[in-house]
Amino acid sequence: SKSLRLVLGDQLSLTLPTLQDAPPGATVALCEVDEEGRYVPHHPQKIAMMLAAMRHFAAELRQRGYRVHYSTLDDPDNRHSLIAEAERLAKRQGCDEIHVTRPGEWRLLKAMEARQAQDRTPRWRIVEDTRFFCSHRDFDAWMEGRKRPRMEDFYRMLRRRTGLLMDGNAPVGGQWNFDRDNRAPIDDAPSPPSPPRHRQDAVTREVLALVEKRFADHVGRLEGFNWPVTRRQALADLRHFVARALPAFGTYQDAISDTAPYLFHSRLSAALNIGLLSPGEVCEAAQDAWQGGEAPLNAVEGFIRQILGWREYVRGIYWHRMPAYKRENQLGATRGLPRCYWDGDTDLRCLQRAIEMTHDNAYAHHIQRLMVTGNFALLCDVRPAALCDWYLAVYADACEWVELPNTLGMVLHADGGYLGSKPYCASGKYIDRMSDHCAQCRYDPRQSVGENACPFNALYWRFLERHADQLADNPRMRVIYGTLDKMSAHKRQALRQQADTFLDSLTWTPPYGQGQHA
Ligand code: FAD
Ligand code: SF4
Repeated sequence: SKSLRLVLGDQLSLTLPTLQDAPPGATVALCEVDEEGRYVPHHPQKIAMMLAAMRHFAAELRQRGYRVHYSTLDDPDNRHSLIAEAERLAKRQGCDEIHVTRPGEWRLLKAMEARQAQDRTPRWRIVEDTRFFCSHRDFDAWMEGRKRPRMEDFYRMLRRRTGLLMDGNAPVGGQWNFDRDNRAPIDDAPSPPSPPRHRQDAVTREVLALVEKRFADHVGRLEGFNWPVTRRQALADLRHFVARALPAFGTYQDAISDTAPYLFHSRLSAALNIGLLSPGEVCEAAQDAWQGGEAPLNAVEGFIRQILGWREYVRGIYWHRMPAYKRENQLGATRGLPRCYWDGDTDLRCLQRAIEMTHDNAYAHHIQRLMVTGNFALLCDVRPAALCDWYLAVYADACEWVELPNTLGMVLHADGGYLGSKPYCASGKYIDRMSDHCAQCRYDPRQSVGENACPFNALYWRFLERHADQLADNPRMRVIYGTLDKMSAHKRQALRQQADTFLDSLTWTPPYGQGQHA
């Protein structure tokens, strides 16, 4: 039998199992299809990065002797659905099998499995994706019998198993976690390095022109595009991060800046998610920097925990809990998304800057996603499907397996505390402490009622009050509920009113069909 090797847009790795076991001269297919580009209005930079990276990868495979079939968006025969297009190509090439590495998205996996079950030619063969530290089977085995799985335990298991930052059986430095050293606010941060600028060759330039024309209706700016589209460019980003930003990564991990979009973050998520870098090599590069005395342990451990811990953990949870996970809404949130997420029109300075940076760069760092855009949506009762559509659309790194648990679980607490033990709700005081936004805002983070009061404050108390049934017994929330209990009925009434007036002032109709993706 003859097989077609289908490589998906987030599988651009030479180490992909379906490429590794391909016979010499094997036929490989990569397909650009409208279906993947449009089911949420992806940021033009995200689409351009994917297409340019796919086209460069196809060229690299050709150089290595594979026979490559590449369907472009403009191809007149293109079926514009991955499955239909792959089957069309297989038939045309006389292939009776399609070999594919397991896709990262539940929807696509189920569609492929449905074809597999029909037992028709071409037959589909799906193999495990080995580009992660932890397989699905390993994760399920680890989950067995755990009522309250916690990322920290999972992370320690993987530290032991990989030997990363281990000294025999013990963590190096005598601690598993140095988070206490990683909470410095923006005030005393040194100026962050600028990311390297990648050269744009003819292939990239052609893609940028195509995206500009074809996806002009999508929110987000294409100018300033600077994502890596080859492995070489991704490695340049990795080297730059390790040398220039990693030393301060830990200390300022939670800080937020009004001007610097990247601070000391790596910007590596997109390259990792489409396969240009492997999580193993990224963690090793960070570990080497610590061993060579070039970066302190709090930074290196904090960074490795994000990749070895969080990234693998949310992937595990996604596959373990889908498809029911996507429908969860345990706090009963009912609203759509405030329109400012799409048009940036808001006078809350922190929110405005996080959204503007997102539109400009298809990027916001974790604390902006969690504590600004995420926190605000949580406090405004935005329903998970509406918020997920936004996060999935606007970030270059957005893939459902990592976006969904972060948004629905970590940000909206819609899974009832399965992923995070408490909601990351916060008032304006927190944002004021960690950022330099408030000095430039028309609101005052120290006021809770009145015309100049920071809207986050009243919304925060309203949120705690509304969800007291579900949250007041949480040991990590007891102190704050103690404060709420001591508040006079009069003050509580004033806060409630302040929050409701603010919510009534927002526009809730986004320009795109919100929640379509549910
Ligand atoms: P750094 O801060 O430099 O972190 C290093 C790496 O660790 C990242 O590149 C990423 O691979 C990994 N990482 C860090 N935090 C997480 C996390 N919470 N979950 C999983 N991996 C993590 N990340 C995505 O890759 N795709 C998404 O679609 C995505 N959606 C998110 C949605 C929300 C609401 C939130 C709160 C977080 C989301 N994240 C997502 C996680 C995280 O915010 C991004 O990975 C990170 O901001 C990417 O920037 P960076 O590469 O500079 O990260
Ligand atoms: Fe954000 Fe409130 Fe600070 Fe304004 S005052 S920047 S709304 S936290």
